[in-house]
Amino acid sequence: MGRYVDAKCRLCRRAGMKLSLKGQRCVTEKCSFVKRPTPPGMVIKRRSKPTNYALQLQEKQKLKRMYGMLEKQFRRFFSLAKKSKGVTGRTLIQLLERRLDNVIFRSLYAFSRNHARQIVRHGFVYINSKRVDIPSYIVKEGEDIEIRAKDALKQVINDCIKLNLKERSVPTWLQVDNANHKVSIVRLPEKEDLIIPINEQLIVELYSK
Ligand code: SF4
Repeated sequence: MGRYVDAKCRLCRRAGMKLSLKGQRCVTEKCSFVKRPTPPGMVIKRRSKPTNYALQLQEKQKLKRMYGMLEKQFRRFFSLAKKSKGVTGRTLIQLLERRLDNVIFRSLYAFSRNHARQIVRHGFVYINSKRVDIPSYIVKEGEDIEIRAKDALKQVINDCIKLNLKERSVPTWLQVDNANHKVSIVRLPEKEDLIIPINEQLIVELYSK
């Protein structure tokens, strides 16, 4: 599968907002967006008034990059959301939140979604005692997730929990057991859990053309 390999901080500067793609660095003064909140490139151009299409595209790019996805996979999630009974925009975000890598990140067991994806890909994650190494796996209500790691990774995860707790908390749809690195999906994320600085309606309009 293809992946984005260029500098991640450029994406935040392009989006005009922090996408938090680099874990702890994102909450320090080392954050490139804090130092230079201008679009990347040699010449600093003044932003002209964006068209409707530009706004829609920008929202889609922000959401896609926030979850570290490429276009094809993002479209697949959009199609799933469109086919479901709920409001498409909200269902899209709900599906993204239910991605396995995002659940590991939200449980504070990783510094970033990218870090969480590595933990999953390397085969340390078990769902209901069965190994799952697909970061885009969509978790279901009632599932129990466990990270079965070696001592070195266990230490990294413990450090993540300690540091992450200073900045964010675990959402209420997840129940964590930090001593054993386990997380249970007590319910699916609902409207109040889906507060992300994105106008998802613009994404729906973009894909409905
Ligand atoms: Fe974005 Fe700042 Fe994190 Fe870089 S350090 S990815 S600019 S939030």
